[in-house]
Amino acid sequence: PILEGPLTLTIENVSYHYPDSPKEVLARIDLILEPGEKIAILGRSGSGKSTLANLIRGDLRTTKGKITLNGVETYRFQDDISNYLGVIHQTPYLFHTTIINNLRIGRETATEEEVWQVLQRVGLKELVEKLPEGLETMVDEAGLRFSGGERQRMALARILLQEVPIILLDEPTVGLDPVTEQALIDTFFNQLQDKTIIWITHHLQGIDAMDQVIFIEDGKLTMQGSPSEL
Ligand code: ATP
Ligand code: MG
Repeated sequence: PILEGPLTLTIENVSYHYPDSPKEVLARIDLILEPGEKIAILGRSGSGKSTLANLIRGDLRTTKGKITLNGVETYRFQDDISNYLGVIHQTPYLFHTTIINNLRIGRETATEEEVWQVLQRVGLKELVEKLPEGLETMVDEAGLRFSGGERQRMALARILLQEVPIILLDEPTVGLDPVTEQALIDTFFNQLQDKTIIWITHHLQGIDAMDQVIFIEDGKLTMQGSPSEL
């Protein structure tokens, strides 16, 4: 499917159980995200947040209800979904190739100048400038040359180059120290201001910048409102 214009994501009475177990890990979730809207999804470990993320991305298909982008169910997009929706995971995957190739994965036609621009936006320009081989520096698969926060910035740079309208952040700051975490949250929200954001997190730090906050407990949506109402 090909979509044009601003995107609305609609989650309609969605339930899900994994194929190997009848237990519903999500039950009757309803949610609408208008273009540019920012939502935090909070909940304990095991409450169903990542399952919801995978359903939104269309990697899983709902067992009941529908998740649609401008009316089209997301599972139908398959790989094309990455034209509309970018995901930053807890441990971003870097490939065993150069920095520039890692950043161009979503848009191979990006120019060197565009790559430097996004590196500047995410706060990595200086670090890469100091490397003797600059953008041609090899990255090993685990991305070991970079710290956790730097890997997240690389993932953000990659997504900014792709210019996708909806960004799903699945606990991207887990495991970072509080100062690095806050700096990263600030960068995310500064750089993604014009995007629709779905931010999965297990704590309250940073949620003031969101339009909506929802809580998921044991697969059910238990609270929904603006940050000031909660
Ligand atoms: P965390 O904060 O730890 O990341 P989460 O809220 O993202 O947790 P999910 O990963 O969505 O939670 O898991 C929700 C429930 O679904 C858990 O009980 C989990 O054990 C179960 N689950 C997750 N993945 C699978 C799978 N592939 N097969 C079967 N059950 C699964
Ligand atoms: Mg999770």
